[in-house]
Amino acid sequence: MTDACSHRLFFALVALAMAFTAPASLHAQFRFSTVVIDAGHGGKDPGTIWYHRVEKHLALDVAKRVETGLRAKGIKTVMTRRTDTFVELDQRARLANKVPSSIFVSIHFNADGRDFGKNGAEMHYYGPKGLAIARRLDMAFDRSVKLGCRKLVQRKRLVVLRDTKAPAVLVECGYLTNRTNSWLCSLTSHRQAIANAIVAGILASRVR
Ligand SMILES: [Zn+2]
Repeated sequence: MTDACSHRLFFALVALAMAFTAPASLHAQFRFSTVVIDAGHGGKDPGTIWYHRVEKHLALDVAKRVETGLRAKGIKTVMTRRTDTFVELDQRARLANKVPSSIFVSIHFNADGRDFGKNGAEMHYYGPKGLAIARRLDMAFDRSVKLGCRKLVQRKRLVVLRDTKAPAVLVECGYLTNRTNSWLCSLTSHRQAIANAIVAGILASRVR
């Protein structure tokens, strides 16, 4: 059990207790027809690079797998980028705001050069609807993605979350600074498992 995981049981118990008192919005589902999929970074902005693994390429790969998975379920998708190109953050939010009846899911990989033990996936969100989706994604990762810890993180100033009007989440799909996470994320099968979990979390957030 890592340091970061040592309080997991405690938090699980707190979460269980909160489940009985949490407002309904935490478990809310939404009506949406389209998912705007945002592969982080691109072009001149590679994102983080560790052990020859480049965030922008991994993020685009997962984004395309999510696109394929959602389309197979009959959900429309819009990609903020489909190639290795640079797109400004506010441009991504503007594009998302043109898509009616949508949610926004941004895909990134994490790094912490001061703590190589840090591992796991993080769901970053802005508003309460974002939190509801983040929780569904978190549950889906818990079921099928082996990365270590998982965390929900509120981000008030992140441009793509703050400026996107639709419910928005940003998934940090593992720490490239952590040797084990980084190696896992280099595997096609693992990135497919990540994409499957993102698709499952999105489907669980949707009113049928
Ligand atoms: Zn990133």
